[in-house]
Amino acid sequence: MDVPELIRRKRDGHSLSREEIFEFVERYTHAEVPDYQCAALLMAIFFRGLSIEETAGLTEAMMRSGRVLDLSEFPKPKIDKHSTGGVGDKTSLIVAPVAAAGGLVVPMVSGRGLGHTGGTLDKLESIPGFSTRPDLSEFRRVLRACGVAMVGQTEELAPADRKLYALRDVTATVESIPLIAASIMSKKLAEGIDGLVLDVKTGSGAFMKTLEAARELASRMLGIGTACGKRVRALITDMNQPLGSAVGNALEVIEAIETLKGRGPGDLVEVCRELTAQMFLLGGIEKPIERAREKFDRLLAGGYGLQKFAQVIAEQGGDARVVEDYSLLPAAQDEESIVAVSDGVVAALEAEAIGRASMLLGAGRERVESKIDHSVGLVFEKKVGDPVTAGERICAVYSNDRSRLPRVREMLRKAISITPDPVKTRPLVLETLANWN
Ligand code: URA
Repeated sequence: MDVPELIRRKRDGHSLSREEIFEFVERYTHAEVPDYQCAALLMAIFFRGLSIEETAGLTEAMMRSGRVLDLSEFPKPKIDKHSTGGVGDKTSLIVAPVAAAGGLVVPMVSGRGLGHTGGTLDKLESIPGFSTRPDLSEFRRVLRACGVAMVGQTEELAPADRKLYALRDVTATVESIPLIAASIMSKKLAEGIDGLVLDVKTGSGAFMKTLEAARELASRMLGIGTACGKRVRALITDMNQPLGSAVGNALEVIEAIETLKGRGPGDLVEVCRELTAQMFLLGGIEKPIERAREKFDRLLAGGYGLQKFAQVIAEQGGDARVVEDYSLLPAAQDEESIVAVSDGVVAALEAEAIGRASMLLGAGRERVESKIDHSVGLVFEKKVGDPVTAGERICAVYSNDRSRLPRVREMLRKAISITPDPVKTRPLVLETLANWN
């Protein structure tokens, strides 16, 4: 393979063949192509883009760089959900057990938080004993026992993506829609699923800041699904303010459990309901969508999602008593309040800045290798559109390091705006796209 020629062709805006992409990915994964050549190709892709055929080829090559799970021993539909990431997004902790309680098999491979966004694995690891790193045979055992397993990416699943992502991170090539789409879909398709529901977030706290960019990413992932013969549905949902009330790992676990008990905040319940209903639809468990939504409501009201969550915690080595006793979760030492500075209506809770404030408290990580504090974070008592009076608490700050508080306070004050005028809120679910009906 003439790698400089391949880079040159992409640099000049030409298409690469599926065979070339496969060979390149394979050789890069096995260190037969050096990082500097791969970085040059990534930058060429960043500027020139990839066609849908090229993106599908790259996805498949990355997926096949490791093991692709064969879950044919499970007769039930195997459907997963993926979120492109946001602030306060704990939907996986609710959606996965409810979907499994409703008759789907959910082999969920999740990620860690990075920058201002949180990650499912970090939230789960705030539960004492919970193992997010079982090997593939243990993953199967949990799936057989519960119909759902929630684990991290192993060495065996899409190793090319791990390598490419690390290189993109240090070469300013993360923010490319075809590269993001291929990265996400390669890991998800390696799970051996029949279908996938995507939650593509848009707004200040999301990767995709505009609706147009979110739409482009969603349709690119749908296109990959079509090319690989998988059913995909995508919701584009709002991420201008945190989802739900809690931001921070153990705090989000508590909110997820409360939601599974039927006491969740309205916005979080709405997004979880819609995502789970789409999963039921995709798995052929229920239709039309209204009945799929009712099924979610019934499962929640009957406590079946909660039971399933407790079961998966226990099967993955965690202390399932946390669902009844939150004192078993890590708790921060200090609590303080951020209050409204004037009377009015909350106009904005700027999600990215809030995610950064939470990261500064220790709830998130700047770099992949940073350590996090599972106990710290924020709990909002007011959301956009809520009336407030001066001095009323908008959010509670839970911390273990007082020296960080002045900076966190300042960040939160800037992130929160209050207006005397009425505030128009935008819908939570902005659009639904599908490659299969
Ligand atoms: N999440 C991923 O898994 N990959 C990307 O490239 C971006 C976000």
